[in-house]
Amino acid sequence: MKKSDAQTIVDLLKKAYPEASCSLDFETPMQAVVSVILSAQCTDERVNKTTPELFKICKTPKDFADIDINKLEELIHPCGFYKNKAKNIKLCSKQILENFNGKVPNTMEDLMSLAGVGRKTANVVLLEVFGIANGIAVDTHAKRISNLMGLSSKKEPEKIEQDLIKFFPKDTLKDINHLLVFHGRKTCVARKPKCDTCPVNIFCKYYRRNFL
Ligand code: SF4
Repeated sequence: MKKSDAQTIVDLLKKAYPEASCSLDFETPMQAVVSVILSAQCTDERVNKTTPELFKICKTPKDFADIDINKLEELIHPCGFYKNKAKNIKLCSKQILENFNGKVPNTMEDLMSLAGVGRKTANVVLLEVFGIANGIAVDTHAKRISNLMGLSSKKEPEKIEQDLIKFFPKDTLKDINHLLVFHGRKTCVARKPKCDTCPVNIFCKYYRRNFL
C-alpha cells in the first residue's frame, strides 16, 4: 500500500467517525491503568459499568494497593478473569508505590515493567493519560482491519504496530488508535461486517474479493 492511500483511509475514517476517542471512563492515571487492565477480554462498555463503584473508593496507587483482595475481586467480577486481574492490579499498584514514588510512570519501558501491563496497555496509558502517541495499541480491531486493508500482513500485534507506524506521521498516531477501534466496533464488526456502507471498502481485500 502507498502512504498516500494510507492517509486517504485515515481521512475517510475521520470523516465517518468524528467522535472517535477513548471510550474508557477514569479520572486519575491509576484508574486509567486499572481500566485498561480490566478491558482485556472484556468490552469497554462493561468496564465502564463496573468501575464506578470501585473508583469511588480507589483513586491512587496506594488505594489499590490497600484494598482487600476479596473486595477487589468482588467489585471487578463482571469484567471476567477477575482473580488474575485483581492480582495484577494489586501487584502493579505496589510496584508503582515502590519503584516509581507512587506515580504512574510515563515511558513505555517503565509501564511495561508493571504487572498486567503489556505493550498494548502501555500504549493506551501513554496516549490517554500523558498525551504521548509513540505507537499504536493493536487490539483485535486494529489487527483485523490492518490485515484487511493491506496495511500489514503480520499476525503478531507488535509486528503489526511496526508496520502501521511506517505508514503514518507521528502526529496522526493518536487518531489512528481511536479510528481503528471505532471502525471495528461500528462497521467492520468481526462476525458481520457492514461492507456495503463501509467508508473504506475500496481499499479492503475482503470487499474486493467478494463484492467487486
Ligand atoms: S469492506 Fe467490510 S470487511 Fe472490509 S474493512 Fe469494510 S467492513 Fe471491514
